[in-house]
Amino acid sequence: MYRMCRVDPQQKPLQRILWRETPDEPLEIYELDTVTYGTSAAPYLAIRCLYQLGVEIEKTNPTIANVIQNHFYVDDLLSGADTIEEAINIVTEISKVLNTAGFRLRKWISNNNTILQSLKERNEADTLDLGVNELTKTLGVTWNGKEDCFLYKIGNSFNKHITKRTVLSEIAQIFDPMGLLSPCIIVAKIILRDIWIEKLDWDESLSQPLHTRWLNFRNELSNLNNIKIPRQITCKHAINIEIHGFSDASSYAYGACVYLRSQNEEGKIQTRLICAKSKIAPLKVQTIPRLELIGALLLSRLIKKILEATKLVPSRIVYWCDSTIVLGWLNMSPNQLQVFVANRVSELQTITNVSDWRHVPSSHNPADLVSRGVRPKELPFSNLYWFGPDWLKSTEDIWPHTLEINVELPELRKVTLMETVFISEPIIDFNNYSNLSHLERVLAYCLRFITNCKAKTGERSKGALKHTEIANAHLYLVRFAQHESFAEEIFQLQQGEIKRGRLSHIQPFFDKDKIMRVGGRLGNADLDFNRKFPIILSSKHIFSKLLFDREHRRLLHCGPQHLLASICQSYWPLGGRNLARKIYRECVKCFRTHPKSSVPLMGNLPKNRITPAPAFYRTGVDYAGPFSVKDRQGRGCKITKAYIALFVCFVTKAIHIELFLI
Ligand SMILES: [Zn+2]
Repeated sequence: MYRMCRVDPQQKPLQRILWRETPDEPLEIYELDTVTYGTSAAPYLAIRCLYQLGVEIEKTNPTIANVIQNHFYVDDLLSGADTIEEAINIVTEISKVLNTAGFRLRKWISNNNTILQSLKERNEADTLDLGVNELTKTLGVTWNGKEDCFLYKIGNSFNKHITKRTVLSEIAQIFDPMGLLSPCIIVAKIILRDIWIEKLDWDESLSQPLHTRWLNFRNELSNLNNIKIPRQITCKHAINIEIHGFSDASSYAYGACVYLRSQNEEGKIQTRLICAKSKIAPLKVQTIPRLELIGALLLSRLIKKILEATKLVPSRIVYWCDSTIVLGWLNMSPNQLQVFVANRVSELQTITNVSDWRHVPSSHNPADLVSRGVRPKELPFSNLYWFGPDWLKSTEDIWPHTLEINVELPELRKVTLMETVFISEPIIDFNNYSNLSHLERVLAYCLRFITNCKAKTGERSKGALKHTEIANAHLYLVRFAQHESFAEEIFQLQQGEIKRGRLSHIQPFFDKDKIMRVGGRLGNADLDFNRKFPIILSSKHIFSKLLFDREHRRLLHCGPQHLLASICQSYWPLGGRNLARKIYRECVKCFRTHPKSSVPLMGNLPKNRITPAPAFYRTGVDYAGPFSVKDRQGRGCKITKAYIALFVCFVTKAIHIELFLI
């Protein structure tokens, strides 16, 4: 091929040869006219010439132009057509075109005799006449043209002395560019990895367990010769083509396999393995979810390569994975994940469409065989591997359903939030107190201690608490309660004014003690300062509860309305009505003084009482007494004992009274 391409005359001096037969003769200069083997530019120049032929006929014969530009591998043509006529046309036309440039195609081989026959008849090209069982190699892969299938030929010439060198050499002899034997090759690779872990030298004998494992594997290798893989992966007259990829990982290895699912007009569905790929897990131990993720990435890259190489335009691509964690990661934004995972998820999200990923149970996942390995004698019979899971040949409604991902995902990036909060803690925890006066006194002593610490020896307070100290403690508590209940509002007020929130309408302000009071409209009233500008409190705060409780007891257990009115003389409790009711309801003393009597259940009345009858038809008699009765008025009267008889009508309740003297 190279010799048929002429070099630009200007470039010829670069390919000069100096020559003389004997040292005595003068030097002769030769120049090579054509592309020459061995120069760096040679392959490019030859292939570019071929490509140019395609470019030149692009308009007149686009089919042949496409074959020339895409179906050549250097000087090997691998092409096909849907019908015999088309194939013969391609052969004829391409020969014509290439002959114009001096590229004569030779040694044709086809899976159809008619095509070869037509070539023979026209004597245009040589054909390789092969018998039914004759094999040829296309780009290194053994191909049986008559049966149109790929085969593997694995010899028996194995070395007797088994070392790392021979193991590597024998693995390398299995030429499998499409990875179709991946489930077996991975077994060999795992053995090789274990040899590396044992740190054996190249020519050192293997340890006994490894030696046995390798022998067992090697003895079964000849079974791979029985595998026949049909070259055609689509069904005839396919109208719909889909690509389904599966990925999986084990602790030893990870891998992916890709299937083509084609459907013809009659609805017949066929699935075929396109290619597979396996890789050994890194020696540095990784978690299974990480390996599953690398497997998924391997799958997406493999499918991308297939699409580029085959120029297939599938109606859709489905990626199957059995790891819910990986599917969960894919649905997340990479910036939420740790670097290792984030980088791979980001690439997956770029190459693939996240909605194309689906979950497949492990038992239905053919990539499971790729990642775990299969013994060579079992591989030829593994339908799961060669044709994918059975349901793939059926309609979509019986495919595994996508799971709802509710597992806790590992490897999430830790989000650290830092928030600054100013908390002014009280000197004592007044949640522990149930009596405000007690609390005030304790706090007053604490405040006195603090003041005394700062004061000089002679100026320190001693003895019983003064009224001012208790008042100070009270103000301290009010301030603290306000800071806890209205932190936001106080902040706004310190900035200027409260523009929003529950206090905005009462125009609060700080007094000289830094206590927030209601602004209100009573500024001009002739009232006490506390009454004009009451202190704002939240009824939810423990201080308000203690305050209400003390006031309730001070007012001799008054009712809620009285209590609230009294509090409102100096305070503005938000939600105070409810708090007053609560204090009253929960007061044990008030509860005792207002007992609720229990009302017994009423029984049925006797029949006589509810049967209509004339008055005193049914009568009850009762006596009352004794009474002392005078026989006359005035002094010296005789007093006798008497009883009153009561006659009560059962029905009308009419009463007749009689006096009985004894
Ligand atoms: Zn009470």
